[in-house]
Amino acid sequence: MIMNKLLTDWLVEQKVVARLQTAVRCETVNPPGNELRLARQIQELLQAHQISCELYEQADGRANLIARRMGQKPGKCLVFCGHLDTVPIGNSAWSHPAFSGEIRDGRLYGRGSSDMKSGLLALLYAFIYFPQGVSDWQGELVFAATFGEETGSEGAKVMIEQNQLTHFDAMIIAEPTDNQLITAHKGVMWVQIESKGRTAHASMPKEGVNAIEGLHLFLNRLQQIGWHSGQHPLLTEPTMTVTTINSGKKTNVIPDYGEMTIDIRTIPGQDHQQIVQSMQTIAADIMRSYPEMTVDVQLLLDLPPVMTSGDAELVNVAKASLADHGISNVAERGANYFTDASVFSQYGDGEIIIIGPGKPELAHQTNEYVEVDTYLQAVHLYVEIAKRYLK
Ligand SMILES: [Zn+2]
Repeated sequence: MIMNKLLTDWLVEQKVVARLQTAVRCETVNPPGNELRLARQIQELLQAHQISCELYEQADGRANLIARRMGQKPGKCLVFCGHLDTVPIGNSAWSHPAFSGEIRDGRLYGRGSSDMKSGLLALLYAFIYFPQGVSDWQGELVFAATFGEETGSEGAKVMIEQNQLTHFDAMIIAEPTDNQLITAHKGVMWVQIESKGRTAHASMPKEGVNAIEGLHLFLNRLQQIGWHSGQHPLLTEPTMTVTTINSGKKTNVIPDYGEMTIDIRTIPGQDHQQIVQSMQTIAADIMRSYPEMTVDVQLLLDLPPVMTSGDAELVNVAKASLADHGISNVAERGANYFTDASVFSQYGDGEIIIIGPGKPELAHQTNEYVEVDTYLQAVHLYVEIAKRYLK
């Protein structure tokens, strides 16, 4: 690919890399997030390039940001989307400090380097430089940065609910995929089960109602109902796993309270509402069989799976752009994790793909890094995709 000269110069000057280091040093661990500080950095960079943007400040230092560029003629709307927050740094020691942005052997280290400040900044630079060297293009290119993705896409929900983003025909989300094309990902349900019983001395269990038994019964029945059968060509099978259990105070006391959370990952075709109803039926059955026991089901997070057809224009454009960059395997893949796409896909029928620098297996890990070359390659890829899609 022939890059325009200005972009080449910019890359050579390594300002694009330095800016990623600055973004990694700007701590946006969620909770609490503090995404406003990174959004302000992005606003300043856009202003330095004479591009205006809307900064949507929320309470407690949180923010979404949207910038728009219009082509010479009306046309389709392509959105570049990334999240501003990161997960916490964990308890293990980092060999490269987590907020240093240190570069060693072509790798830029730090929390968020892979997930997904490299993707966010690559989209940002592609957004800034895309029109240069393009004689005419049509439609609208939007850069959208969200808060709170890591805790359930709160920023994306606000972006839709408050009409910060009203429509789109196509969207690229820059989660780490090692610049491979993802066109589908699983949905997620986080469910909390609460069980209540009655305490008694453990030497006389029949005098009490054991809340742990309630959780145990619930889980057993849930595993038996078979809702999690089925296969998807890109996503394989749905999964369900218990992730937290809390109950009991003393070894010799029957516990009267217990709670557990369950993580469920769904595939297209599964009805989340139906799954919730099945759980409520199980809880009601248990309470009928054990009248002194209470079992309550609460949905903590509910995001649907995402699937963009292999025939979609954006998918074909992305494949052609990947091939141009010497990436041999351009076949679409699926992911187990969820993204902001779960929120955006519920509004309209815009095509969504996920493609970004950084290795997915490094996301949320100690010593997270991104290969600088992959980050720079992503800038070119996004420019190329926008050129083809908005021509
Ligand atoms: Zn992410």
